[in-house]
Amino acid sequence: MLDFMKTYIKSDVIVIGAGPTGLTIACELRLAGLRVAVLERRSAPVAQSRALTMHGRTVEMLALRGVAERFIGHGMKILTGHFASLDTRLDFSGIDTAFPYTLFIPQSMTEHLLEAWAVESGVALYRGTVAEQIAQTKNGVLVKGTRDGKSLGFSAPYLIGADGARSMVRETAGIAFEGHAATRTVMMGDVHMSAPPPKGALSLESEAGGLMIVPMGGDLYRAIVINPERMHVPVSEALTQEELSASMRQVAGQDFGMHEPLWLSRFSNESRLAERYRQDRVFLVGDAAHMHFPAGGQGMNVGMQDAMNLGWKLAGVVNGLVSESLLDSYHAERHEVGAALVQNTMAQSSLLLNSFDPEGQALRRTFSALLKLPALNHTLAQDLSGFGIAYSAPLGGSVGGWAPVPEWTGRRVPDWPLLDRQGKLLSLYTLMQDGKWLLLRITEAGARFTPDLDPRWVTIVHAALDRRDERLSGVDAVLLRPDGHVDQAVRVDIG
Ligand SMILES: Cc1cc2nc3c(=O)[nH]c(=O)nc-3n(C[C@H](O)[C@H](O)[C@H](O)COP(=O)(O)OP(=O)(O)OC[C@H]3O[C@@H](n4cnc5c(N)ncnc54)[C@H](O)[C@@H]3O)c2cc1C
Repeated sequence: MLDFMKTYIKSDVIVIGAGPTGLTIACELRLAGLRVAVLERRSAPVAQSRALTMHGRTVEMLALRGVAERFIGHGMKILTGHFASLDTRLDFSGIDTAFPYTLFIPQSMTEHLLEAWAVESGVALYRGTVAEQIAQTKNGVLVKGTRDGKSLGFSAPYLIGADGARSMVRETAGIAFEGHAATRTVMMGDVHMSAPPPKGALSLESEAGGLMIVPMGGDLYRAIVINPERMHVPVSEALTQEELSASMRQVAGQDFGMHEPLWLSRFSNESRLAERYRQDRVFLVGDAAHMHFPAGGQGMNVGMQDAMNLGWKLAGVVNGLVSESLLDSYHAERHEVGAALVQNTMAQSSLLLNSFDPEGQALRRTFSALLKLPALNHTLAQDLSGFGIAYSAPLGGSVGGWAPVPEWTGRRVPDWPLLDRQGKLLSLYTLMQDGKWLLLRITEAGARFTPDLDPRWVTIVHAALDRRDERLSGVDAVLLRPDGHVDQAVRVDIG
């Protein structure tokens, strides 16, 4: 079984799936000089866009690698977000970031830009190639793929399953995908409209059903419709233009002149989470690891953020810079994020799909009123956007004589403006574009702080913060991980 081919194309990491998650991790691995083979079943990019929302934290991660402007240039900034389409919007303005918004950008464009970045970085992308068999050996992983009816063999020390919700990598690795089967579905159509809502976007929820309309450019609109009488139709039953139109009339009294649908589909509230994100030399990222009701525009974002979490760790191991045990932190950190994602989307589907009676409407109004509380609004805005994620344990190690400043551990940082010793202004993110750790020595005392990391993997900068951040007073040095999270902030231990 193991040696199913005579010859293999060798690389350092094989990625199965060139969706947003697979392409992001391929770029991260390539940044560290790894040879990366990406296998993608589709011979051409997908034209339809599931995701339209890129959250600010994902834009921030792209900024850490110096490519955010490519995406911003093709998107539109939306200053607020939504939780379960409640009337009170989520406010991103209180978040300390250069990107306090969601970027409205179709998934097809995101994938196009990611693919261009991957290919220019030197990722080997095998389109039209289906991964059919996988085997783990003592030292690596073998994959048998098929392209144009011919078999192709691939080998590498590690494999990443970025192959979406029906992941064959997950199944082959024997990783359970626990959760809840679909109980209800929602209709979705990307359609042209001759009489769109006056403001373009529209959100309605009443006892008659739910409707959300989002402009997609020109006279193209996305309509998401919840028809209480059609919620039990399975995802597999094709949606017709007539059914969508009739459902819109039921909820809104009109169909806004919809015609020429580009894409008609249904999605469900099936919710699942992989039991483990790692099985020896195999890792799961993105939809392969989590599946949920698509509310709040999160799945692609969490997938790309999974990729940013695993990429530098795996690159460090393959490059011999760190012990293999670091790889366990991927599950430890991201499984918890996946569980929170499943939970918040289940809460949203409950608020959306159970609201077609007076009690359901009262519950929605109550939650909408609660969201007017700034602290609650801020917390949910941080949770949905990914800005609020903080990892609990430092990974960089350190020598003695230093006291941690725990409130900083694991938090992401904005692009702090820095002043070097000559008074020159530096951008923190620009210093991190090579994907290495960054040790920021802020004070004279901080110049002695040295983490227990391979020096080839750490950029050291002596710089003060240009903008005073009260929360940093007393901090002598900050060690940042390659994904822009604080590993640890320290002060001299005088105790
Ligand atoms: C209606 C809707 C709206 C959404 N809106 C948003 C949103 O606004 N924001 C957001 O963040 N998320 C949104 N999502 C979720 C988002 O689309 C997904 O989370 C995202 O596509 C996951 O990316 P991925 O790369 O992990 O998986 P996928 O995009 O599913 O990519 C997996 C890739 O693997 C390939 N593949 C599979 N099996 C094999 C194989 N055996 N061999 C080779 N290749 C293989 C597939 O062809 C595919 O290209 C939405 C989803 C839906 C349904």
